[in-house]
Amino acid sequence: MQAPTGSTPAIRLTRLRKEFTGTPPVVAVDDIDLEIAQGEFFSMLGPSGSGKTTVLRMIAGFEEPTSGTVELAGADVTRRQPYDRDVNTVFQDYALFPHMSVAENVEYGLVVKKVARAERRTRVAEALEQVRLGDHGARRPAQLSGGQRQRVALARALVNRPKVLLLDEPLGALDLKLREQMQVELKAIQRDVGITFLFVTHDQEEALTLSDRVAVFNAGRIEQVGTAHEVYESPSTAFVAGFVGTSNLLTGEAARAVIRRDGSFAIRPEKLVVVPEAGVAHPDGHPDGHSDGHHDGHPEAAGTLEEVVYGGPVTRYVVALDAGGRLTALEQNSGARAPSAPRRGDRVTLRWDPAHVIDVPSTPAAAPAAATSGPTRTGPSRNS
Ligand code: ADP
Ligand code: MG
Repeated sequence: MQAPTGSTPAIRLTRLRKEFTGTPPVVAVDDIDLEIAQGEFFSMLGPSGSGKTTVLRMIAGFEEPTSGTVELAGADVTRRQPYDRDVNTVFQDYALFPHMSVAENVEYGLVVKKVARAERRTRVAEALEQVRLGDHGARRPAQLSGGQRQRVALARALVNRPKVLLLDEPLGALDLKLREQMQVELKAIQRDVGITFLFVTHDQEEALTLSDRVAVFNAGRIEQVGTAHEVYESPSTAFVAGFVGTSNLLTGEAARAVIRRDGSFAIRPEKLVVVPEAGVAHPDGHPDGHSDGHHDGHPEAAGTLEEVVYGGPVTRYVVALDAGGRLTALEQNSGARAPSAPRRGDRVTLRWDPAHVIDVPSTPAAAPAAATSGPTRTGPSRNS
């Protein structure tokens, strides 16, 4: 969802910067610009230490920017105190009061703010309804599941009726199954409540699943902003191609041999088909499993299966290409597996549709590293 032109964004960050003094000093957030539309489910995705939490804390007012501005619904709030901003934060390590009921936990903030009793009751009931805990108000936190406790934490923020909810890895403490369940719930709650969610995660699948749009962070900067589809199918840097999904990057000699053009290329694992060597048809009669070429108009590359990882619904194949480089292919386990399924050490051919080859632009900063080792950086090279 793009910000409709003309409407005021819920959040606008302009050249926002945060330096922490120390030895060495850290540029945690490096002059970022970002606009988030009202009602959007927006995620900040990036590895640990890339500056996501610091951005969130500057929006909430817990951290003062070194420079730049934070606007909420068109108002510059950069110098305002946290309580004077229409946002609420849900953290990963939410602490509920164990001796209070669920309803009292949710009500607590309103008591502190001296909201009248009748109003408090209405708003607590509403917030508990929003997180689907309408029947659980009388319980103690200890009588709830992990997912339900997380929803109480959410209700505690929603009861303030903020225009923006900031969520810092709120599902990080939950185990995988619960986490997936809560992702679905969170999305549904956001749709119902209709307020802007700014969600921080280092989990690419979580960001892709939940978000209208995603900003991919790397070392204090935003490398790309786009829909889940855009950042996955059309990564604009080698870093994004590598961090969002399995990278499968071909560079240098391997790229030239396999893609037959200069540059860096990515192919998503699910777009690659693994053909066992025995099954490779050679219409012209002579087997040539060692060369890279085309078959029925589809490019292909020969290699050796380095690893076969069975993962329930899918199997993952890691293929070391004869041309150099390594590609991972993902295959759905949709039918009965043939007894001739490829095994480690087997010769195989990979095939793909040329339309699925992603040109990964060599950004000045990423180019030197991308030539050999993919999305790692070798330090500042923008001036070279
Ligand atoms: P993320 O949330 O993406 O993991 P953070 O925003 O927490 O990243 O941190 C970004 C960088 O800023 C890291 O290098 C971190 O060590 C540093 N940092 C964060 N908070 C402080 C602080 N209070 N003092 C010094 N350095 C900090
Ligand atoms: Mg963080």
